[in-house]
Amino acid sequence: MITIVGVSDLEGNEIEHMIDSELDLAIDGRGLTLFPGLIDPHVHFRTPGLMDKENWETGAKAAIAGGYTTVIDMPNTLPPCITLARLRDKQKLINKQLRKVGIPLHYGLYIGADKLHFDEIKKVKKHVVGIKVFMGSSTGDLVMDDESSLHAIFTLAHAHDLLISVHAEDEEMIQERKKQFLGQTSFETHSQIRSVEVACKATEKAIELAKTYDVRLNLLHISTKEELAIIKKAKDEGLKITAETTPHHLFLDTSAYATLGGKAQMNPPLRSKGHGAALMQGIRDGVIDMVGSDHAPHTLEEKKGVYGMVPSGVPGIETMLPLLLNAYHHDELTLKKIVEVTYDNPLHTFSLKPHHDVVLIDLNKEKEVFGKNLMTKCKWSPYEGWKLKGWPIKTIIKGKVYDCEKI
Ligand SMILES: [Zn+2]
Repeated sequence: MITIVGVSDLEGNEIEHMIDSELDLAIDGRGLTLFPGLIDPHVHFRTPGLMDKENWETGAKAAIAGGYTTVIDMPNTLPPCITLARLRDKQKLINKQLRKVGIPLHYGLYIGADKLHFDEIKKVKKHVVGIKVFMGSSTGDLVMDDESSLHAIFTLAHAHDLLISVHAEDEEMIQERKKQFLGQTSFETHSQIRSVEVACKATEKAIELAKTYDVRLNLLHISTKEELAIIKKAKDEGLKITAETTPHHLFLDTSAYATLGGKAQMNPPLRSKGHGAALMQGIRDGVIDMVGSDHAPHTLEEKKGVYGMVPSGVPGIETMLPLLLNAYHHDELTLKKIVEVTYDNPLHTFSLKPHHDVVLIDLNKEKEVFGKNLMTKCKWSPYEGWKLKGWPIKTIIKGKVYDCEKI
């Protein structure tokens, strides 16, 4: 049994908390706050095929360091996870890597929607959290950019009662706009090509399809204030819709290109000032249900090129909770709201089993972000040098205790 003594609950009351464990241990929790082990609904741990960027050994360490004990991993790997056989291979590889580091991380996987493998959906339905649909291109090659494929996948999702999580950017518009901006070499171009309209058009289309086929829809990485109005309207109509935003869309904007260059490039892209504050309001209003890291590492080397040559995606699982806790200190979020968007809502959206994992947080700890100290294989962060207040100290998963700074 692990007994945590004198720890504060979300209301600030001192409590004693006990967890089943082979260990017989008392932890002094005075001055610390108790959170459940958090759930990151959106990671790319790059396995198989892209393990120079991340794998489940470094990914699991990064998760635990960040206060996360459950992750939901995306299918755009190499090869992509689009069949039952590939899903089985992926699970084997993940379990092997987790065993190697001894971290019993909870995880869920998506099947990627692929035009040539619709018959696999039925086979995988009991083994996945849902279907990932890329309406716009990103890392990998899984775009569903034609009407008939989209209708087919929503029909299947309805038939098998599967959640669809969608990357909502309109591919046709992206391709048209790429031609308009041909030859531009500044990274700001990325936000111009993948404009607010590109996101809104696909978000509206996804909602329309969910309505037509009566499908549970999860809108990933919402990045614009315009989409919030679209989502609110759909929710008010009673549609079964959830929405996620990311730390980089909350805390960074297009001004970051000047200092970060390619390290600020991701899909959907950074937006101009003002969208982040609107997204924060969207969280407070309940229009946004979840914050997912969209932890999508690339090596520093890959991120150094010129615009057009640099892959999209940033790491984020280790810095997400400190960023949100820092926002708590700026009166932007309550602790209860943080737990809602990083635990309660992902738990319900993906019908996950509740667990007994916890995170002990020092709300007053101030620390600078140093990429080289992070557990992620890529060893960099778009928040390099940011001083954040509020850090996880210990993560307890399945009765195993980890010190967040020494994993
Ligand atoms: Zn992603």
